[in-house]
Amino acid sequence: MHAAIYVRVSTDDQARYGYSLAEQKEACRLRAASLGASTVVEYADEGISGTILDRPGLNSLRETVKNGQIDVIIVRDPDRLSRKLAHQLLVTEEFEKAGVKLEFLDFDWKDTPEGRLFYSIRGAIAEYEREKIRDRMVRGKNQKARQGGIPIGFYAYGYVYNQETGGIHIDEDEAAVIKNIYTWFISEDIGVNGIAKRLNIAGTPTRKGKGIWHRNVIRQILVNPVYRGQWWYKEYTIQVPALVEAEVWEKAQRKLKEARRLWAGSSRNEYLLSGIISCSDCGNTMTGVFAKWWGKKERRYTCRKSSQGAKNAGCYPMKAITARVLEEAVWEQVCAWLDDPDTLAREAACEGLQEEELRQELERTEKHMDDVEKGREAVLNALASGLFELDGKIKGKLTDLKRRKERLEERKRELEAALQGARRHFAGMKDLRTLAREVLSRLDMLEFKEKKALVRALVSQVAVSGRGRPGGQGLRDVGVTILARLPEQEAGAFFSNVTR
Ligand SMILES: [Zn+2]
Repeated sequence: MHAAIYVRVSTDDQARYGYSLAEQKEACRLRAASLGASTVVEYADEGISGTILDRPGLNSLRETVKNGQIDVIIVRDPDRLSRKLAHQLLVTEEFEKAGVKLEFLDFDWKDTPEGRLFYSIRGAIAEYEREKIRDRMVRGKNQKARQGGIPIGFYAYGYVYNQETGGIHIDEDEAAVIKNIYTWFISEDIGVNGIAKRLNIAGTPTRKGKGIWHRNVIRQILVNPVYRGQWWYKEYTIQVPALVEAEVWEKAQRKLKEARRLWAGSSRNEYLLSGIISCSDCGNTMTGVFAKWWGKKERRYTCRKSSQGAKNAGCYPMKAITARVLEEAVWEQVCAWLDDPDTLAREAACEGLQEEELRQELERTEKHMDDVEKGREAVLNALASGLFELDGKIKGKLTDLKRRKERLEERKRELEAALQGARRHFAGMKDLRTLAREVLSRLDMLEFKEKKALVRALVSQVAVSGRGRPGGQGLRDVGVTILARLPEQEAGAFFSNVTR
């Protein structure tokens, strides 16, 4: 077995800790001997900072590894390879790919901030993976659409999708609601919020059965071309039964467009923190708004909820904090974490995984299905024992129960698929290291979408307290707490040959 030793000390280390090359070499040689190495070659960098990757000693080690002349590399700790996480990832991957075993003298991956940060990065990268997988799934559905079939995932209110035949038909009750929404919108000036309110007051059931209509749902219904009989699937159009006349649908679009024009400037709708930011004063989530506020139009986050169905209206008077300063603060923190593993590990709070949530919802759904089935049986038994006659009312009740059961079954299938996806996702993250390298090397050039994914992967929650100054630009008088997310994952293939 051929062993290589890599040692590095910076002038700073020497002065501060009294580390010496000789000590490191001695310790590494002992380990090589205990492993039974037949040859030991030394590579050393003295007085060179670990933030620079281009070091003569390390370069020549990497070259030798590439040539396949080494079986094991012994290093005191990952810091010797590099002080930068991105570089550590790059170098360890390179060694691993070459089939070289990496031995650290006094370092346990699972128990150290550095080791845990790797998991964190993997989580971040996993976000990209998920995006990719989603993209692939979309492409799969496209293909089905091209062949004229209805791809899975057709869940429009007003229709029932038959899983077996792949066909869709109209749900009469829901279709009536859709028709109302369109008629009210084009013939009255009540707007989406007014429509939501009207439906809520009438107790109109939603698809999920919660009975709360949100204005966003109304808006989505109004812009959905499905209701005029066209299902646009990317560039393909699939004919479905129309619920409103084309003319009515067009009219609604024109009216929506007018409303949008009044909301000028809202094209800037990119909010880095949406979904993870909340107000510590009222407990609401904060959402992005692009509106005039104290004489200035700009992107802000607010905890105010003016829409239907909001339990908590938020802080009063309205609190709206400039988005840019909050986003900069969070982004700075994310970059700092990537640069300084210890801090992230210290601040990290382990977050439950999505998988757990899915599993719980699946359980609830199954329970629900049970209840529905029991209800159906009770009705059937009562009929069988002649307690009452099979009249229209009972028939309706049975149909209703049947429909509910079908919907639950549909949801169950969805959840099972999602759960399987989540599991697969944790099992096979092979391209991870490559991606990690890619992302970390261009941290400053990331696009908004990528930045957002990275922020979401590393930050579990941003809590904002205080209200800032009206029109204020800085974060004075505002408290921002940024909580780290550290995904808990088993040490997979990546760490299998990184041992103590
Ligand atoms: Zn608030």
